Amino acid sequence: MTTLLIKNAYIVTMDDHQREIPDGGLFIRDGFIEQVGQTSSLPSAADETLDLKGHVVFPGLVNTHHHFYQTLTRAVPAAQDANLFNWLKTLYPIWARMNPEDIFISTQTALAELALSGCATASDHLYLFPNASKLDDEIAAALEVGLRLQASRGSMSLGESKGGLPPDSVVDSEENILKDSQRLIERYHDPKPGAMTQIVLAPCSPFSVTSDLMKQSAKMARQYGVHLHTHLAETEDEEQFCMQMFGHRPVGYMQEVDWVGEDVWFAHAVWVNDEEIKVFARHKCGVAHCPTSNMRLASGIAPVKEYRAAGVKVGLGVDGSASNDGSHLLAEVRNAMLVSRVKEGLTGYSLSNDPNRKLMTAREALYLGTRGGAAVLGRADIGSLETGKCADFFAVNLNRLEFAGMHDPVSAVVFGQPAGVDYTVVHGKFIVREGRLAALDLGRLVEKHNKAASRLLAG
Ligand SMILES: [Zn+2]
Repeated sequence: MTTLLIKNAYIVTMDDHQREIPDGGLFIRDGFIEQVGQTSSLPSAADETLDLKGHVVFPGLVNTHHHFYQTLTRAVPAAQDANLFNWLKTLYPIWARMNPEDIFISTQTALAELALSGCATASDHLYLFPNASKLDDEIAAALEVGLRLQASRGSMSLGESKGGLPPDSVVDSEENILKDSQRLIERYHDPKPGAMTQIVLAPCSPFSVTSDLMKQSAKMARQYGVHLHTHLAETEDEEQFCMQMFGHRPVGYMQEVDWVGEDVWFAHAVWVNDEEIKVFARHKCGVAHCPTSNMRLASGIAPVKEYRAAGVKVGLGVDGSASNDGSHLLAEVRNAMLVSRVKEGLTGYSLSNDPNRKLMTAREALYLGTRGGAAVLGRADIGSLETGKCADFFAVNLNRLEFAGMHDPVSAVVFGQPAGVDYTVVHGKFIVREGRLAALDLGRLVEKHNKAASRLLAG
């Protein structure tokens, strides 16, 4: 049994009352929060005590969409200035050269960046398994780093010859995909509170997967009680593709293949109309909002305000590192707030005298990155600092250059330049301590990562 006491910090609980505790702390036992409150109200001794005076403490951020392996192909010259479909076509052949070691290294790189930016739980969507690589390679790498992982068993089964976007060389048979999905669920999926690894089934997108695989995946996921994830309505051309190929718009197609429900979340969901927003709300689907990627690929701006007003669950995702090109989740919180304001500006905000027309606040953006993400992933055990929840949090020391002169300790980390965090704790364990990763030698990792990245591009 181990206990950890955090004291004298500014605690942002993200509980239902949005409680903030200026001279607060946490008392943690065996990975779970036992008490949250004023420092004076907490036990005075523990196995380890950390005085975080001058720090603000938030629930660990939750990343709802990523492709870790893409850290190997950031800023590839031919893919820097393309739209989604051309960007994909440029990168598919490069990704097809990856091996198990590349998956392992890139997972650690992405998770290191995420941890240093306050993330405690990361969802990843791996949908290419070339040269005998497996989702197991990613899971093993994540266990070494210590972040919670929602490992999505992605898949592609609709190659070019059948009218899909990816080359036939990177797609697999439905039979292999389903067999491997079942193996992974049975081997790794932990449904209990505090789980470090959960499996998600995640056929890649309407333009790379057959309808039959969508249906079969949904059936299997529901049989085992695991969640479902896919890309949807990311760009306008996907709308045209779905109309031509399936006779439905993307959301209608999801209804057709039984992909709506509280166990489903979609990445992006930029190109949806009012009716489709209501469909998401009615069926309790979640959305992974990835503002930086949507800006980077000129995909558009997701209707987050409308989603929230309709009661749709929204979380944040950095998306794959080849369309961001980073994994800084606190920066994503900032971009979510900023891009929502761009949208307001484009729809007459400055001309409107409506006092009810509100801008997204820093706290609201932080809510999306914590509670919102937890809800999207279907995890009731994370996302806020409350008794009984996992001891997942990050802390930022406000006594530094980028926060000088800030008058609000909470908004500082969103309005200010995205910071590297000082502490990230997952299940009561220090992943980042005093700004440094506890389990990884970053110098060696970057060297190995760069070597693998160069080899992939050289062909
Ligand atoms: Zn993606």
